[in-house]
Amino acid sequence: MNSFYKGVLIVGGGPVGLALSLVLSKYKVSSLILEAREDSTSKDESRAITWMPRGIEFLKSLGVFNQFYEKGVLRVLHQFENQHGKLLRWSFNTLESPYRYSLQLPQRDTEEILEDTARKTGMVEIRRGHKVVEVTQTKDKVIVIVHSKDGQYELSAPWGVGCDGANSITRTRLRIDKTWRDYGMDSAVADFDMECNLPKDISNIILDSYRPYGFFYFAPGKWRFIYRINKGESREKAINSEFVSKLLKERLPDAEVRRMLWASAFRLGQGQSQTYRKGRWLLAGDAAHMMGPSAGAGMMVGVLGAWRLGWRLALSMKQHKNFSAFLDDYSEEQRVGADEIQKNNALIFRNMAITNPLLAGGRSLLLKTISNISFIGEKAMEKEALLGQILPVDYSIDRVRPQGSILLKTCGKWVTGKRVPYIYEEKSFHPIEQLGLKHTLISIGQYQPEEEWRLFADISKGIDFPVHKDLLIPSENSKYRKGSKDFIFALVRPDQHIVSIYKIKS
Ligand SMILES: Cc1cc2nc3c(=O)[nH]c(=O)nc-3n(C[C@H](O)[C@H](O)[C@H](O)COP(=O)(O)OP(=O)(O)OC[C@H]3O[C@@H](n4cnc5c(N)ncnc54)[C@H](O)[C@@H]3O)c2cc1C
Repeated sequence: MNSFYKGVLIVGGGPVGLALSLVLSKYKVSSLILEAREDSTSKDESRAITWMPRGIEFLKSLGVFNQFYEKGVLRVLHQFENQHGKLLRWSFNTLESPYRYSLQLPQRDTEEILEDTARKTGMVEIRRGHKVVEVTQTKDKVIVIVHSKDGQYELSAPWGVGCDGANSITRTRLRIDKTWRDYGMDSAVADFDMECNLPKDISNIILDSYRPYGFFYFAPGKWRFIYRINKGESREKAINSEFVSKLLKERLPDAEVRRMLWASAFRLGQGQSQTYRKGRWLLAGDAAHMMGPSAGAGMMVGVLGAWRLGWRLALSMKQHKNFSAFLDDYSEEQRVGADEIQKNNALIFRNMAITNPLLAGGRSLLLKTISNISFIGEKAMEKEALLGQILPVDYSIDRVRPQGSILLKTCGKWVTGKRVPYIYEEKSFHPIEQLGLKHTLISIGQYQPEEEWRLFADISKGIDFPVHKDLLIPSENSKYRKGSKDFIFALVRPDQHIVSIYKIKS
């Protein structure tokens, strides 16, 4: 059975492949997911449990927020302690987002909601039990060879995306090099069905130099226990149920444990692909950038990448004249975005590796000191929530500006490369929830709740779009440009990142 599929071919139906299919469906672009497994991630193997605020904004844009909210449990605070007591508490409450919490639910639930929604669009076909064993391409199409219980077949399509996880066959067959940073330490995750008296809406992180650990509530009756595997302990032993139960008992003697659901040991390390695009193939999620599980950012960075890739692929499917440059921009920008998160993760990993009591004491002192500086906590939480990412958009193909205008880097809270700010004090005006599937031109002069504040820039036929001065609101009354009569506006992408800010003299 040889055939040509007219939409986008997605290898791998994990959270990232499914999320990408949903973004494409919004643009009426069909996709076919080839997934090796017969079923979603098993019920007990919870893996990625956390949706950070930026990821929740993505769920909202997909229209699936309510399903997630109904199933998830909320976390509103990170708390760090040592053996002597509390060191630091950072709250989600300071975030400029409609979602000032993280949402926890098992990865299986995430996959089920996304899969169910994708199937209902009528634009997504999911073939489970279909394993891709060969990946190649010509100038005009991508080609895969697939194994299924009914036999082997070849399939081709105009575009393909490898969302096939850390051991991606797409990446290896395309000979895309990967670098690996190793932090010289092993760590483990064990999920328990239990009751205990720890607060459920906070991360309980204990910086014990002998063995740092943490407890995270993620579903009714379910807790995640994360701990370091110390030198001399084997990974097999460290996830043996007797060993883990003993560790747990020492730390939570009053817990009523019903059963251990699952445990997994892994190396503290992170991988990065040299490029996320090769010809007509793209990489997304763990296939592109492998985050260390202990930092809990893998799924988030992956789904945000799917959002950044989805509209570009949709334009490519519509034969946009600049499609090649759009896809190169995805590769460039998402790599920088993933790198930034990996640097952040590296800090967590280095902290987990501290065994020297003197160093641990110094760290405790530092944490206690910065706990009183609210600005540091706010910045750290913005980073953690993935709200503060600034993508390198300076040379991107959609960074257009009208003749005679001047490019600005920032204008108040509006920052080039960052996601559009959430402005909540002013007349319940929430730009991030009102953006559509196209590029949007937003006047950042005086805010108006009516329609005048935005123009939809249809870039499907090219990226030149008219700028009607009459439709823009002079910035005279802007809280950022008091006294100025210039027009200032921002061009915002469908994934809510600001690609340019410019000023036109009135
Ligand atoms: C123990 C653990 C804990 C974690 N905790 C967190 C957390 O708290 N927060 C977080 O954000 N992340 C966490 N992660 C990471 C998270 O699971 C991944 O980042 C996330 O699943 C990546 O999604 P993905 O869709 O890119 O890849 P995957 O989830 O790996 O999905 C890839 C899919 O591709 C399929 N596939 C692979 N090869 C083929 C093939 N040849 N043909 C067809 N299909 C194929 C696989 O079957 C799989 O379904 C954790 C990971 C682990 C292991």
